[in-house]
Amino acid sequence: MTEETIFSKIIRQEIPTPLLYQDELVTAFRDISPKAKSHILIIPNKIIPTINDVSEDDELTLGRMITVAKKLAKEEGIDENGYRLIINCNEDGGQEVYHIHMHLLGGQALGPMLAI
Ligand code: AMP
Repeated sequence: MTEETIFSKIIRQEIPTPLLYQDELVTAFRDISPKAKSHILIIPNKIIPTINDVSEDDELTLGRMITVAKKLAKEEGIDENGYRLIINCNEDGGQEVYHIHMHLLGGQALGPMLAI
């Protein structure tokens, strides 16, 4: 399943979501419904629906998502105090958009890791 989501339109800038970062592999922008003072999404440009769908060919892209998270955390001024990176997978993981995305959350104390 490689169906497009709203994120493909953001990557192509067919909807006017301001981009914080974009290169040949990944794109980053602010979450439309922030769960913390700083809440950024970092996504692959290629459609990968879930973490279950990644392959070894995606390792460069997945690594880039981490290095871009580090760069953006510094730009946001949240690197020293700390932040959290989250990738949800499928229903139990709470995934809503089936184009993988890494949440970068920070700017405040985030509390316990899980609220079940
Ligand atoms: P997840 O639950 O991990 O699939 O997270 C999906 C995230 O995408 C949620 O935090 C939404 O607020 C966010 N989101 C959905 N549509 C948009 C959009 N058009 N622009 C920015 N963020 C969005």
